Amino acid sequence: MLNVGQLNEGVVLDHIKAGKSMTIYHDLKLDKLDCCVAIIKNARSAKMGRKDIIKVECPIDTLNLDILGFIDHNITVNIIKDGKIVEKKELHLPKEIKNVIRCKNPRCITSVEQELDQIFFLADPAKEVYRCKYCEEKYRGSRNK
Ligand SMILES: [Zn+2]
Repeated sequence: MLNVGQLNEGVVLDHIKAGKSMTIYHDLKLDKLDCCVAIIKNARSAKMGRKDIIKVECPIDTLNLDILGFIDHNITVNIIKDGKIVEKKELHLPKEIKNVIRCKNPRCITSVEQELDQIFFLADPAKEVYRCKYCEEKYRGSRNK
C-alpha cells in the first residue's frame, strides 16, 4: 500500500522509471508551481526493482497530466483527496503536446519565431508518431528521454 503521507489533496505519481523523476518534474513544470512537491528516488519496487515517486500537493486541475502519457504511460497516477486515493488514472497518448518538445527543422517557423508555442500532434497513434503542427516534421527524439 502506497504511503500517501501528509498529502491532503494532490497527486502521487508512482512507478516512474528510476532516475526519471527530475525529467518529469520539469516537464510537468512543477518548478513553476507554488505547491509542495516531494520526490522519492530509487524506492524499492516489487514490480520494477527500483522506481521513483513524485508527490504533489495541489488542486488536481493545476497539473497537465496528459503530458505524462507522452513521457511514459506506465506511470500510475493516484488522485488524492482528503488523504485517500480516490482515483487511479490511466494514461493515454495525448492528442497534442504543447511546449515540451521542440521542432528540430531549421526552416520551421518555430525556429524563427521563438515566442510561438511548440505544438505537436499525434499523427499516428499505432506507431506513436508525433508531428510538428506548423511544418509536419516528425518528432524523432525518444519519448523516454
Ligand atoms: Zn516544425
